[in-house]
Amino acid sequence: MSIADEGGLFELPSRYRELQAEASELAASVAARAAVADEADAVDPVMLRALRDSRLAEVTVGSEYGGRFPRIDSLAVTVVREALAGVSGHLDSLFAMQGIGSFAVSEGGSDAVRERWLPAIGTLDAIAALALTEPDVGSDLKAISATVTTVGGQLVVSGHKSFITNAGDADLYTVLCREDDLFSLVLVPAGTPGITVTRPHQIIAPHVLGDVVFDGVRVPADHRVGEPGQGFALALATLATFRVSVAGAALGVAQAALDEALRHTTGRQQFGSPLARLGPVPSLLALSWIEIEMARSLAYRAAAAATRDPRASMHLSSMAKVGATEVAGRVVDRAVQVMGRFGLVRGSVIERLYREARPMRIYEGATEVILDSLARQLIKRHGAGQGSAE
Ligand SMILES: Cc1cc2nc3c(=O)[nH]c(=O)nc-3n(C[C@H](O)[C@H](O)[C@H](O)COP(=O)(O)OP(=O)(O)OC[C@H]3O[C@@H](n4cnc5c(N)ncnc54)[C@H](O)[C@@H]3O)c2cc1C
Repeated sequence: MSIADEGGLFELPSRYRELQAEASELAASVAARAAVADEADAVDPVMLRALRDSRLAEVTVGSEYGGRFPRIDSLAVTVVREALAGVSGHLDSLFAMQGIGSFAVSEGGSDAVRERWLPAIGTLDAIAALALTEPDVGSDLKAISATVTTVGGQLVVSGHKSFITNAGDADLYTVLCREDDLFSLVLVPAGTPGITVTRPHQIIAPHVLGDVVFDGVRVPADHRVGEPGQGFALALATLATFRVSVAGAALGVAQAALDEALRHTTGRQQFGSPLARLGPVPSLLALSWIEIEMARSLAYRAAAAATRDPRASMHLSSMAKVGATEVAGRVVDRAVQVMGRFGLVRGSVIERLYREARPMRIYEGATEVILDSLARQLIKRHGAGQGSAE
């Protein structure tokens, strides 16, 4: 099929446009529930049912286990997240975590574990979670203290994981642990004795978040995901496939905020003119439009590259994540400003978008952590005499 048949060099191929339309239809069908779900600290049953019925979670597992694509496709995940996040952060998180929480299992799980869990992830009959962060450890994951040891042929997991999305509602946790001098991932089914979940924190844009304590939790030996010592490689593989999708979610939020700003500023008159034509307001609107289009171009390009080769395009995914989340921060702030006091009303759509944009600059790699890593790569390439940041 030629590029022209696929929609042109800078257009999404039709299969992604169809997926976008499907996700937009799902989002529109639950828009009336978004205000309730986005304040919830537990999985919202209406959103869960709608996402399950839509069968879109099939995008988060490979076709061998009932998925839509042979391998998890970063561009597919990105366009779905863009459509969902513009309407509900809760819905977007529920969708994305199915992939983020299970990707390591797709890549490195034993046959028995993959067969047990991945079909259920794809149908949303099981909810996934990824447990890396600890109370004293965030960006610097090599400092974790959770452990896995082998006792009598079983794996024993102990430790405290914190700020874990889906904690309490998840059916499985993929847990990063120390194993002697190495790091390993272990799949722990949520019903296993020795797990305690609390919800000590809630954030400004409520999420299904909790702390999970594993106290000598025993699972069969085949629940180690990958080989001993493969924990970081699998966590990195997860980032390489999914980081760019945060850009998609941020674009959804930014676009929705610009739409709100337009709705308000074209509908309200001051000084005998619509706000949208007053003073710097037109520039602020146009600037947001430009930034969204630029961020979208990079996000789709990076996501397409990640679909082809996630590891080789990690720098592009990182740029797209920082670019789009920082744009979302600026766009929501401008939207609030041009809406004046109506931008500040609690419970309004713009208030929700304003809060939703903020955590995106912190999770899945804080902006400053990514900038530091990109700068290192840039300097290394320069030193190698390539002279190009590509
Ligand atoms: C909504 C939400 C959902 C989450 N879900 C999960 C989950 O499902 N599973 C999970 O394991 N974790 C989850 N987290 C935790 C998340 O991964 C961490 O917040 C993130 O890794 C950052 O760690 P930290 O918050 O401890 O910040 P810290 O590591 O304490 O860093 C604080 C700040 O210091 C700066 N900084 C830190 N290191 C560097 C560096 N090397 N160079 C430059 N600047 C630096 C950055 O500005 C950073 O924002 C979630 C967090 C949120 C907000």
